[in-house]
Amino acid sequence: MKEIVILGSTGSIGTQTLEVVENNSSLHVKALAAGSNIELLGKQIEKFMPEMVCVYDSSKALVLKKRLEAKGGDYKHIDIVTGMEGLTECASIHGADTVVAAVTGMIGIKPVIEAIQSGKDIAFANKETLVTAGHIIMPMVNKYKVKLLPVDSEHSAIFQCIGGQHGNKPSKIILTASGGPFRGMKKDQLDKITPADALKHPNWSMGRKITIDSATMVNKGLEVIEAKWLFGMDIENIEVVIQPQSIIHSMVEFKDGAVIAQLGTPDMKLPIQYALCYPERNSLPGERLDFYKIPQITFEKPDLETFEGLELAYKAGEAGGSMLTVFNAANEKAVAMFLAGKTGFLNIAEIIKECMAAHKNIDNPSLSDILEVEQDVYRYIESRYL
Ligand code: NDP
Ligand code: MG
Repeated sequence: MKEIVILGSTGSIGTQTLEVVENNSSLHVKALAAGSNIELLGKQIEKFMPEMVCVYDSSKALVLKKRLEAKGGDYKHIDIVTGMEGLTECASIHGADTVVAAVTGMIGIKPVIEAIQSGKDIAFANKETLVTAGHIIMPMVNKYKVKLLPVDSEHSAIFQCIGGQHGNKPSKIILTASGGPFRGMKKDQLDKITPADALKHPNWSMGRKITIDSATMVNKGLEVIEAKWLFGMDIENIEVVIQPQSIIHSMVEFKDGAVIAQLGTPDMKLPIQYALCYPERNSLPGERLDFYKIPQITFEKPDLETFEGLELAYKAGEAGGSMLTVFNAANEKAVAMFLAGKTGFLNIAEIIKECMAAHKNIDNPSLSDILEVEQDVYRYIESRYL
């Protein structure tokens, strides 16, 4: 039996992870964590009876605790924790084997570090954490001899392509991208985009923040940096190719020119299950690829002039250090502002660009440097734009 903790259990990845747990008798839920959605958490608790539950929002945690006490029986014994302390407690809970990092944003850094230090394997969806703290996390993975298994579909694809290559390292990573809902449009057409327009992704159903990131292509930029950390690859050897049908999930090229790809229908349960059951491949119900129904698989170059966020990610990736935090934090703030109707779609990349230009890079930033730079970026944006 593998005991798992899900950080972000009420989100898109979190709920699909619980579907995977239901499909695999070898997986058992030890702890769950979410931000504030206690209605859904309540249902998840009834079904999976975890030992510990974190609700980041302390007033909501109290409401949940009272509800469980009123229900009585085993519910009374569930440990309800809150805040960052609660998140790290869940991440390091005794007896868990794997922590699924599926919160959104840099809030995941401390719990992921705590989980690694307590010897847990990580099923990694929370790309913002790896992007900003990859230089701290990757050496820790070696030091504590834990496994870091990618959940992001592209990185899972690369991981699957590299497996069975007898340690031969690819010379190039080819990350595929759907291009998002605005593929083919130019800046003058993107000027009036509303959050409702941007929240419609053609191929994947995901949380709000990553859906906006997909529309701006910042998501692909974050994934380029994620690939750099996960696979120890130089940024210039990571190429992005638009593949609008989302059938090829990514590819690797070897020095002899061989290209290996992983294909499948767009279903996040596959990479989630692969990360949780690795190296086993268990059965997974769902649609299969029918080659006679795929009209075409096509490829395009990304339009870096229109989708500047991707170009800025390459710049941040080359600079490294605290510039990665600036890129990510500026995007997190700008996306929240866009979703709240406080800034326009094209301003997201503008805000990132301005924050990066104003930043003096710190090489090899410590965890406290990272968290300080994050707050500095938020303050800078607030002073300029709000
Ligand atoms: P969602 O917005 O759907 O879910 C986010 C989850 O994090 C929710 O459970 C939310 O709880 C929880 N959360 C938010 N803030 C906190 C907090 N302070 N403490 C504890 N929990 C918190 O996001 P997704 O599932 O789409 O994405 C999660 C991560 O996975 C992101 O980093 C994303 O980039 C990455 N990813 C997602 C993919 C997808 O298909 N969705 C694909 C590849 C990567 P609550 O509901 O209570 O707010
Ligand atoms: Mg992805």
